Amino acid sequence: MRQLLIISCLVLFSAYSYAQEGAYQIDVTKLDSGLYLYRSYAQYEGNKVSANGLIVEANDSVVVIDSPWDNDQTTQLLDWIEVEIGKPVAAVVITHAHNDRIGGIATLHERNIKTVSSQLTKVYALKRGFEAPRKIFEKEITLSLGDYVVNVFYPGAGHTVDNTVVYIAPFDVLYGGCFIKSSGARDLGNIEDADLDSWANSIQNMRKRFPVPKMVIPGHGDHAPGAIENTLKLLSYK
Ligand SMILES: [Zn+2]
Repeated sequence: MRQLLIISCLVLFSAYSYAQEGAYQIDVTKLDSGLYLYRSYAQYEGNKVSANGLIVEANDSVVVIDSPWDNDQTTQLLDWIEVEIGKPVAAVVITHAHNDRIGGIATLHERNIKTVSSQLTKVYALKRGFEAPRKIFEKEITLSLGDYVVNVFYPGAGHTVDNTVVYIAPFDVLYGGCFIKSSGARDLGNIEDADLDSWANSIQNMRKRFPVPKMVIPGHGDHAPGAIENTLKLLSYK
């Protein structure tokens, strides 16, 4: 019996260490010439869940929208950029202070990569034990990278109090992060830190600022049309 117990402990231990490092591989999909969607993964409520992020390649540098879920996948992402693109990462935008957006910030700082977020995201990052992003804005910031311009905008509270969205002008793409659900989402996902009363109004603020983007990328799931409309529909059921 004792031997059996030791064996099962060993099995449990190795499963645990596997989950801790190297458990997940990021994947990258090309959306356009110089625009890539990447996915990182984590275990959430017993399921493997993916999170979307973006890689934007300008003529002389790269900007990444959101860190992968953990440090290991952040290293994978930086390695991928080095091998496949071979340009320096000018900045990583953190769209709110949850693990699926900020989980690899320590690795980014170790590599001296500039991290950008709203003031509110900095506050929540520190509260939750993450390193603080280093370039901070209040309501909106325009990042110029080479021949490209990227706008990071705070629409108001929604999925979280601090969530921001990113408009990538050269591609007319609006990245909603977790503030926007995919068109196929059946619920609002993790609403532990959400402000359900403000969310729909904050979406209208986003729409005023970026009226008709060609493509909308949600924080999770695919980027088929109808993501904003579905988010508003899900909010109307709350
Ligand atoms: Zn979140």
